[in-house]
Amino acid sequence: MAAHDDPLAGAALDTLAVRAGQVRSAEGEHSEALFLTSSYVFASAAEAAARFTGELPGNVYSRYTNPTVRTFEERIAALEGAEQAVATASGMAAILSTCMALLKAGDHLVCSRSVFGTTTVLLNKFMAKFGVETTYVDLTDLAAWRAAIRPETRMLFLETPSNPLSDVADLGALAELARARGVLLAVDNCFCTPALQRPLEWGADIVIHSATKYLDGQGRCLGGVVLGRAELMAEVLGFLRSAGPTLSPFNAWVFTKGLETLRLRMEAHSASALALAQWLREQPAVERVFYAGLPDHPGHALAQRQQRAFGGVLAFRVRGGREAAWRVIDATRILSLTANLGDAKSTIVHPATTTHGRLSAEEKARAGITENLIRVAVGLEDIGDIKADLARGLDAP
Ligand SMILES: *Cc1c(COP(=O)(O)O)cnc(C)c1O
Repeated sequence: MAAHDDPLAGAALDTLAVRAGQVRSAEGEHSEALFLTSSYVFASAAEAAARFTGELPGNVYSRYTNPTVRTFEERIAALEGAEQAVATASGMAAILSTCMALLKAGDHLVCSRSVFGTTTVLLNKFMAKFGVETTYVDLTDLAAWRAAIRPETRMLFLETPSNPLSDVADLGALAELARARGVLLAVDNCFCTPALQRPLEWGADIVIHSATKYLDGQGRCLGGVVLGRAELMAEVLGFLRSAGPTLSPFNAWVFTKGLETLRLRMEAHSASALALAQWLREQPAVERVFYAGLPDHPGHALAQRQQRAFGGVLAFRVRGGREAAWRVIDATRILSLTANLGDAKSTIVHPATTTHGRLSAEEKARAGITENLIRVAVGLEDIGDIKADLARGLDAP
């Protein structure tokens, strides 16, 4: 379709979130259809041949393309402002597919120390096995990023804001560094989603999501997506075709519907997290609160510049040690004790013994993962009820 014919050309994020990527079948369904099919039939042997060579566009097999998956890909691409999206079976499959498609033996990666724990396992245990070496740096230390780049460096990889302490990376500065040194900048945008932050606009080359979190928003399905320029995504799709970590159409359908309410949810998560951070700071049993929405957080000004709001995840230290932290967690009766996030249901977790339990004592100390630290991913429940649930443990002797 020519650009001037596209009714969504120039449409705002809220319109794209509801409308982008929908293809109606001849049935005229209003809601997006779910195409649960592994393969597709052809009208003739000649058409089959042409589809297989790619001469004729169209579906061949759902490991490569599926109409429901394509709708999700086109919708999230529209929201991130990306040329193309490739959906994957999980967030980890998105990171793996990016690495396998764009890196080779002998290449070097620079990664922020504060990325999702399984990402570091993937890089250290598996990518290393295939000759891709990783150097870790502090997310906010631009000089360290610059110093870590070598002639064989191919990619910078980060998450911002960080989990769980809300450190904020300067995306514009890192994109400039990446461009100057001829390396790719990949951003795991799971915590913000395009409703709050669009890394490609700051000059990133690749955006990655665990769709399992806020894109779903209700903790139902695993999935992921990689986004960026068409020539990079052709490589990622090529890996999927050969290796198979493809997104299920059912999960794609759930995520497509999730995107329709994404901005409203992200604003509600952010508003409640800010209110909770402010309230926690007033509690005598709380030593310190980490949330980029608080004006005295070191990443506040930067987050204000590059994010629309501060997201749903915060962390706080209680007075005392592990025992005090566990007491607060165990006293809650509404929040879910689980490491998941990006759910309508608020979750609470003790990072030092769960999400960050694999780190050595020294690594924990450097990352600020103390024994008295608690992470809360604020859901969509009434904020008064969330506060009351946390107050049970904070008031306890
Ligand atoms: C959960 C998560 C992942 C991994 O995603 P899965 O869908 O669980 O494979 C990657 N990055 C971040 C920031 C995450 O929170």
